[in-house]
Amino acid sequence: MSARVLIVDDVPANVRLLQALLEAEYFEVHTAMNGAEALDAVQRVKPDIILLDVMMPDMSGFEVCRRVKSNPLTRYLPIIMITALDQPEDRIKGFQAGADDYLVKPIDEVALLTRLRSLVRFKFLLDELEGSIGDELLLDTRLENSEHEPGRVGVLLADEARHQQMLQWLGQEHSLQVFNEPVALLDAVRNGRLDAVLLEMPLNGHDALRVCSQIRSLEHGRQLPVVLLMDQQAREKLTQALEICASDYLLKPVMLEELQARLNIQLKRWRYIQRLRENVRQSVTLSMVDPLTGLYNRRYFSTHGRALVEEAASRGRALSVLVMDLDHFKKVNDTWGHDAGDEVLCEVARRLQKQVRRLDVLCRVGGEEFVALLPGADTRVAQQVAERLRRAIADAPVRITTDNGPVDLNITISIGLAGYEQVNDSLETLLKRADEALYEAKRSGRNCVQVQRAA
Ligand code: GH3
Ligand code: MG
Ligand code: MG
Repeated sequence: MSARVLIVDDVPANVRLLQALLEAEYFEVHTAMNGAEALDAVQRVKPDIILLDVMMPDMSGFEVCRRVKSNPLTRYLPIIMITALDQPEDRIKGFQAGADDYLVKPIDEVALLTRLRSLVRFKFLLDELEGSIGDELLLDTRLENSEHEPGRVGVLLADEARHQQMLQWLGQEHSLQVFNEPVALLDAVRNGRLDAVLLEMPLNGHDALRVCSQIRSLEHGRQLPVVLLMDQQAREKLTQALEICASDYLLKPVMLEELQARLNIQLKRWRYIQRLRENVRQSVTLSMVDPLTGLYNRRYFSTHGRALVEEAASRGRALSVLVMDLDHFKKVNDTWGHDAGDEVLCEVARRLQKQVRRLDVLCRVGGEEFVALLPGADTRVAQQVAERLRRAIADAPVRITTDNGPVDLNITISIGLAGYEQVNDSLETLLKRADEALYEAKRSGRNCVQVQRAA
């Protein structure tokens, strides 16, 4: 895993020690000796993660952390605080500053590396999702603040008394669901009913790590926060736990503030990932769909059309293209206005859509021009489809709303058709023939279908 790590510490010996350790693990290491240098390096180096010393003369690590986390551009950049302070209050202070994790000197190398890897994995996932949406939407997504929303937390602990305690501790802030059996918990995960899971280890009668890895095998469980509450004795399994499946852990006796802090960090990350996923889905849709009619747009037509032509060429599958244009549409706009024209376009789109099969691709490629790609349809079949489409528009008037009430308009379309015929046919040559056919349809009186065969 070749991630960029920024080490910030005012003691050169500490920096060298960490640097040697991380370089041996093939991380790309950058260093800073104080807060100002660190903030500068964050902009310049764009690290994937920061290891941050707390005690520094000019600006404390807490302050550096707060600044990084309050900038929307670096808000989700993971930070591990490293310190000689080991009082629980210090840890809480670190989490309050927004740190993702907190390690105490002398550093346990294994713990550091597992933490580091797990946070870097999270960062890489973010990079991938963030890379698929536009800058503006990305900023909105980052700024959206859902940090203090309650989470749906599933709890599976060793006994009833602990369940009761957890309800007391977290029940106010979150919506807790207590489970007595892994099966029921897994079911809730499968159905997307949870935002986080708390698991005790060891778990009475069950293997907590098995449960944890079963969660990971579910689609909704892959990135779901799973926090382990571990016995000191279970500690030897810690590395394994973090490597296989756990998002975070606490050693017993658990401190309420720390549990809250760690759980909230997990929930914050989880929500951000959910929001990113949703936005990626939306921007993919936006880039393919015409906002007026909801049909595919020209861009989708080009990419998908090329793929269908290739398939026709390589597999000998039939393919036809219809180009459709509204007749005298300018008159509709001129008489009834542009909005009425838009209403007509939407109704035409709806009717056309109803007449084609699911695997056909219907697109609005220009103002009042539509294209249908009909895979598997030869010219004879496509001609029947085209005739059906023509009639779907011509046979019933289109109703528009005007200031003086509804008005029925007689709308017709002309259709040009071309079928895949030759090995060297391309999407362009098909379209060119279909356009020629459309021109012929317009010339011969409109409201009709014409076919153009290859010369
Ligand atoms: P023809 O039968 O020869 O196709 O005549 P036509 O009037 O339909 O053709 P022309 O290309 O001259 O005019 C098309 C008109 O479509 C021009 C423009 O006002 C209108 N138009 C293009 N895009 C839109 C749109 O998005 N909404 C609306 N309402 N009208 C549009
Ligand atoms: Mg027209
Ligand atoms: Mg036109």
